[in-house]
Amino acid sequence: MAKVVCVLYDDPEDGFPTAYARDTVPEIKSYPDGQTAPTPSAIDFTPGELLGSVSGELGLRKYLEGNGHTMVVTTSKDGPDSVLEKEIADADIVISQPFWPAYLTGERIEKAPNLKLAITAGIGSDHVDLDAAMKNDITVAEVTFSNSISVAEHVVMQILSLVRNYIPSYQWVVKGGWNIADCVSRSYDLEGMHVGTVAAGRIGLAVLRRLKPFDVHLHYVDRHRLPREVEEELNLTWHETAEDMVRVCDVITINCPLHPETEHLFDAEMLSKMKRGSYIVNTARGKICDRQAIVDALESGQLAGYAGDVWFPQPPERDHPWRTMPHHGMTPHISGTSLSAQARYAAGVREILECWFEGRPIRDEYLIVTGGKLAGVGAKSYSEGNATSGSEAAAEFSAA
Ligand code: NDP
Repeated sequence: MAKVVCVLYDDPEDGFPTAYARDTVPEIKSYPDGQTAPTPSAIDFTPGELLGSVSGELGLRKYLEGNGHTMVVTTSKDGPDSVLEKEIADADIVISQPFWPAYLTGERIEKAPNLKLAITAGIGSDHVDLDAAMKNDITVAEVTFSNSISVAEHVVMQILSLVRNYIPSYQWVVKGGWNIADCVSRSYDLEGMHVGTVAAGRIGLAVLRRLKPFDVHLHYVDRHRLPREVEEELNLTWHETAEDMVRVCDVITINCPLHPETEHLFDAEMLSKMKRGSYIVNTARGKICDRQAIVDALESGQLAGYAGDVWFPQPPERDHPWRTMPHHGMTPHISGTSLSAQARYAAGVREILECWFEGRPIRDEYLIVTGGKLAGVGAKSYSEGNATSGSEAAAEFSAA
């Protein structure tokens, strides 16, 4: 029987919800590329409930305990005194969400001799030292496509919010003002602008498709080129490198995984190549951007705005400069954990667990690492290495 340690974010400050804003969420049975949504044998939750916080338990307790396994659920994940640090010593499986990542560094993996499976409830397994997972024969799996469209919607919202200067305008209303000139002196139309995505995978392509009706010029950079009919349908311009693309764009959206090739891709040098007054929306991973270079570019006016929902580490320190830099539209890491998305990734985690315990193969599209090497989506979208360094700073948030 297995010991499963599940690291989830805190419940709401005023307690676990007893009622919700809506009664149902639409049921999504398949994704745009034809992949089916998760197909576990059953679920023990009602879609639309809060599943990603500790009391939601991803709807897994009944299934796990009913099959004789032990389930430990905690929010305490950072620092040597955390519950995760203690419980990982004899854990067989760790489940974590990128929003509140249980950083599985090489040192932690060394302390977990029984650990065989790390499941990401969502997409993006950069919180796991993939090198160490490969060396220690740990399978890493995520619920591919479960929240890709959720993120694409957030990206479009944040692009429009920045370009049209929505957040400061909203704040004028709340403050009791009617300051039209203050609101519009940084407000533009998106129409006619050049928008480029770094990566045109599941999220990047969904962003391009959603932006097409805004009559913008669409650009992308990716290691693999999209099929010619997709390029023609969306009138896309492909660029060999991110540097080439940023020179001609007004808005950049970042949609690639974090791995050694993309870590700090947007540093001071890359930012200096952008048009003055460009916007960046990064919902991929905080570490793809250099923290201080973003602050400097906003302060100098090289960037007109920066938004996204990803930080490094997570949670970020209470005095992280991105909380207070000018012209930003940051949220906590929420784009992929809407109630709609939670229903899909909780079902996906259950599907992965059922496969694991019943000795059936996990879907190839869910695999990042298995058998000591990158596999499935991991072999296509990641590069070997470790992107967890510096994650120990996440302990500063709880300590503050
Ligand atoms: P996909 O695997 O579908 O797409 C990733 C794409 O990135 C692939 O097309 C891949 O290219 C491309 N890529 C990888 N490295 C590079 C590089 N060096 N330069 C250019 N392109 C590159 O994943 P998704 O679109 O579903 O998700 C992307 C990322 O978004 C996740 O890894 C995660 O970090 C983040 N995410 C964030 C969420 C949030 O809540 N904010 C939720 C979900 C995901 P190819 O395969 O062609 O080599």
